[in-house]
Amino acid sequence: MATAQAEGTDTSALFERLRKEAECLLCFRTVEEPKVLRCHHSFCLKCLNKRAMEAEKEGKSEINCIVCHSSVKIPRGGRFDDHRTSFYLNRLAEIVSIGVSNSKTQICWNCNESKTLQSYCFECEHFICRACEEYHKWDSLTHSHHTVLIRDLKEQDFDRIIRRPVMCEQKNHNKQSVEFYCHDCKVCICKLCVDELHDAHNIEGVEKASEQSKLNIMDNVQKLKTRLAECEEEVEKLQKGAVKREQNMSAIEDEIHKNVEEAILKLKLHEQEVLAKLDNLGNEQQSAFVAQQERNASRLTMLKDFLAYGENVLSNLSLPGLEEHYTIFKQFEQALDVDDDDDDDDSFNPPHVNYVPNKEFADIIKSVAWVKLLFDSLTLRNLSLMAISQWKLK
Ligand SMILES: [Zn+2]
Ligand SMILES: [Zn+2]
Ligand SMILES: [Zn+2]
Ligand SMILES: [Zn+2]
Ligand SMILES: [Zn+2]
Ligand SMILES: [Zn+2]
Repeated sequence: MATAQAEGTDTSALFERLRKEAECLLCFRTVEEPKVLRCHHSFCLKCLNKRAMEAEKEGKSEINCIVCHSSVKIPRGGRFDDHRTSFYLNRLAEIVSIGVSNSKTQICWNCNESKTLQSYCFECEHFICRACEEYHKWDSLTHSHHTVLIRDLKEQDFDRIIRRPVMCEQKNHNKQSVEFYCHDCKVCICKLCVDELHDAHNIEGVEKASEQSKLNIMDNVQKLKTRLAECEEEVEKLQKGAVKREQNMSAIEDEIHKNVEEAILKLKLHEQEVLAKLDNLGNEQQSAFVAQQERNASRLTMLKDFLAYGENVLSNLSLPGLEEHYTIFKQFEQALDVDDDDDDDDSFNPPHVNYVPNKEFADIIKSVAWVKLLFDSLTLRNLSLMAISQWKLK
């Protein structure tokens, strides 16, 4: 008894785990009509349609997957009905509904009646009711079938149940497994469907069709791999190009800095040289000016002295002897002569100084103007290293 209870608890835990796996993360209930999105996450059809409707009301044309947040375009008409159905989740939901509603009635695959399902038959590959299980035991055709009570099912049993063959969904075909694929209608069908609904259609066995389909997928996967490699190569090329471009730009920048610094250095040297020359010239002129000033001062003193002497001689009643007159006259003449001789040089008139830049300086100025013109008229894109190299200051 204790063992049976323990097993029952194991199965409940298993059912609980499957229930979690089959849960739609939009409504937190077992998924219904699970539709697979591009990101491979699945949700109930009605949940997706509801979200699409809400999004469209807000003027959006996309919804976001609640699991991975990738955006999903809302199909035309605002419904996800045509999206691929998750076969696996459908099966899982079917098992979960049997597990959780063991008191509720469901349709027994064997007797087609609404009953409480009790067991799973691994030969019939269906859940069956208690009466059908009893019947299975004594019927000569089914007494060897392997049946297991639902509460005794193990994890590996569920795996087999999920992967059991698909049955036809057409009315009255429910005991026929899907064995064919119609290439014209793109559906899997049973042998009754072939005769009744797909007469003269291009039909192939499911196994063969899926082999072919697998080959097609493999082919496409190969193509995708090639395309991906090409894309990656392009991305790498672009990245390398970007690095090269950046290096090129920084080389140009360095070149510009270097040339401008050289030019500044040369201009500074030129400035120092010219200012030193100007300073010398100024000093020379200043010395000449001072000398002239001194000469003028002594001449003034001399003239004033002679004038005073002359006036004194004239106003003195006791005139000197006539012989002295001659000497005085000679001295006056000498003083006046000196004045006359120096007449031209007396006015201090410094030469006018002009600044004419030498050829090297003029070249630098011209280059700077040329580069400015270059920057003004060209975009940086067109500014090649060659253009920069023309602006070499030598
Ligand atoms: Zn849902
Ligand atoms: Zn997703
Ligand atoms: Zn039954
Ligand atoms: Zn059976
Ligand atoms: Zn069918
Ligand atoms: Zn068909």
